[in-house]
Amino acid sequence: MSNFYAELALSFEGSAQRPALLLNGQPDWSYADLLDRVRLAAAELDAFGAVAGDRVMVQLPKSPENLALYLACLQLGLVYVPLNTAYTASELDYFVSDAEPVLYVGTQTREDVPSAKLRLGNRGSVLEFMVPVQVSDDHTVAIVERRPDDLAAILYTSGTTGRSKGAMLSHGNLASNARSLSEQWGWETSDVLLNALPIFHVHGLFIASHCALLNATPMIFLEKFDAEQVMAWLPQATVMMGVPTFYTRLLMNTQLTPAATAHMRVFICGSAPLTEQTFGEWEEKTGHRILERYGMSETIINTSNPLNGERIAGTVGYALPGQQVRVANETGEPVTSGEVGMIEVAGPNVFPGYWRMPEKTAEEIRPDGFFITGDLGVLSADGRLSIVGRSKDLVISGGYNVYPKEVEMVLDEMPEVAESAVIGVPHPDFGEAVVAVVVPTAGEVTIDAIDRALGEQLARFKQPKHVINVDELPRNTMGKVQKNVLRQAHSALFT
Ligand code: AMP
Repeated sequence: MSNFYAELALSFEGSAQRPALLLNGQPDWSYADLLDRVRLAAAELDAFGAVAGDRVMVQLPKSPENLALYLACLQLGLVYVPLNTAYTASELDYFVSDAEPVLYVGTQTREDVPSAKLRLGNRGSVLEFMVPVQVSDDHTVAIVERRPDDLAAILYTSGTTGRSKGAMLSHGNLASNARSLSEQWGWETSDVLLNALPIFHVHGLFIASHCALLNATPMIFLEKFDAEQVMAWLPQATVMMGVPTFYTRLLMNTQLTPAATAHMRVFICGSAPLTEQTFGEWEEKTGHRILERYGMSETIINTSNPLNGERIAGTVGYALPGQQVRVANETGEPVTSGEVGMIEVAGPNVFPGYWRMPEKTAEEIRPDGFFITGDLGVLSADGRLSIVGRSKDLVISGGYNVYPKEVEMVLDEMPEVAESAVIGVPHPDFGEAVVAVVVPTAGEVTIDAIDRALGEQLARFKQPKHVINVDELPRNTMGKVQKNVLRQAHSALFT
């Protein structure tokens, strides 16, 4: 049975009386409770008529019920499509028309999403927006047989062309990476994971949650990151996973001391670059060296600093066992160690491709199975990877990816804007802040005008935090905007 949920359920059943989810302000869930809630959600999905291969789109605030819904989708072989809760109705409209889910579970209404009214589900049924299905107590559903390459989830990444790509992940991808991480990070039966990450993203859902679930260990399941709350729960945790912003915010908390963290087994970080400064300050304040690892929606985790061994600031460690990492030139030929090139990865964790985008898939996955990550890196002679930049123009703000093109397209529609370039500028709290450089049609474009124009269309985290008015954008001889020039000129904006 290659359904990843079969493996999880076996582990839950063996630990039914153990705590599964430690919750803020509500009773904890044991693994028996979790099994029960998954059973109920699976019965509802089954009664609704969803069948293996159907997509279920979910845009919900993080909650234990939301986690149960995800697991129920796995159980039934449904393809789980989580969406950032910050996405607006007009963004949702695209995801609905692209994924054609049979069901959307979320807070937006059908009226706000034009494609929901027009489109039919893939079996001709109208797309439904809620699960108000009544099920009887004895309605139980079996775990649906899946092959390792059957789809388990689609994670939308923002597209460089403005069009989001759906990274397809299989049951085999999820299972192999969960096992590998659990081993790599030495998961123990006494571990308690502090999870304050969102679960619409690979980090909080697959990387963090799977480690806890696979081992049937408790997870402190916080709806969102709040430094005070995290400090209050920390005494009960042994492992924390977070983005660099979590660590920089905790560093500002006066309760962060060696004594408050002495019991912790490991602090793990990823999703955006952890600066050597944060790494150093964390060690100074707590005595712990943060374990940094590297991954992405398309591949879950590729490399990790060692649990036992040297964790080096500014590096993301070694390829996980069974995976390969190479730093290559444009044709995929490995460059010599110490030289910068494109990071390419292969292994059982690598996704089969982008949903309904065979050309994009062929562009980014080589015939030998290596995925071209878009990140630039250097390998040391002994195989330790460092990330030195991104060839794709991505901005990572507070752990969230923002593709400048998508923001620029909306800015350029403003009558006040002749043209625009969106860049990421180092920011002490967000890692990078989204900054708009604009050429106004007349007068000056204010940040208020941008907020008004973009508010309805783009998620809050994509909206520029600052605007710079210029007479013209710097361009190279090929007419391409030189973003590196802009980034350099404004690098000290927030520091
Ligand atoms: P996502 O698909 O949202 O997880 O974003 C993946 C991207 O985040 C990668 O392609 C990298 O550019 C970046 N990323 C993830 N982990 C790290 C890390 N430890 N250091 C630097 N960048 C990272």
